[in-house]
Amino acid sequence: MNILELKHAKKSFDGVEVLKDIDLSVSEGQVVSIIGPSGSGKSTLLRCATFLETLDDGSLSYQGQEVVHSENGRAVYGNKAQIKQAMGSFGLVFQNFNLFPHFSVLKNITDAPIRVQKRPKEQVEAEARELLKKMGLADRADAYPCQLSGGQQQRVSIARALALKPAILFFDEPTSALDPELTLEILKVIKELAAEKMTMVIVTHEMNFAKDVSDRMIFMDKGLIVEETTPELLFKSENQRTREFLGKYH
Ligand code: ADP
Ligand code: MG
Repeated sequence: MNILELKHAKKSFDGVEVLKDIDLSVSEGQVVSIIGPSGSGKSTLLRCATFLETLDDGSLSYQGQEVVHSENGRAVYGNKAQIKQAMGSFGLVFQNFNLFPHFSVLKNITDAPIRVQKRPKEQVEAEARELLKKMGLADRADAYPCQLSGGQQQRVSIARALALKPAILFFDEPTSALDPELTLEILKVIKELAAEKMTMVIVTHEMNFAKDVSDRMIFMDKGLIVEETTPELLFKSENQRTREFLGKYH
């Protein structure tokens, strides 16, 4: 069973088609990276898959449960309960951390599990402390986001996403706001999650990392999937657009 199945996704902004019939399927334990030039629709794809944008057309299922289907060329969304269930399947990590500045590190992590998932506070806090330990931040539970480095803030936002026990994690350029040293510490955390068989979709410009960590890679350009294959084959691609794009990273 696929954890995520997005089919024939279409999305336009102001009459400009940004996603042109995109498919994205991810099975359990898989890591899929999405690469491509700025403006190719990578963030829009993640935003459509995570209900931050609505699809114009296409279908979307999480863990075998269809939450959006296509009818007469339009996307039809399920009811509130179905959307809520789908939203419980994934976690999302952004480029700019998006932590709540007025919450402590611990509260940033525990707030949604307690308030949204209605789980017991003691248990959630104990799990949050475990996650912080895993992220190398055991001693920063009471700090505020502004007291942390960018790399530490991003590790908190990864812990926050994991606290919701998602079936799949989405990353949208998780290291783009970080300098090289802090980038490495985040890539290391994501590699550890991959080794634990966390299902992930990662939009990234870190080509060596993507090559290392991914089961499959998707190269997007101008709202289309140009190629989808293993890292080995993608880096040996004969496709001119793929080669041109990858050439910029050599
Ligand atoms: P990427 O993440 O690959 O850089 P995006 O998905 O952010 O690309 O953007 C794809 C295109 O869609 C860009 O041309 C961008 O300007 C446009 N776009 C994205 N979001 C919006 C929006 N909310 N309103 C209008 N245009 C948008
Ligand atoms: Mg983007």
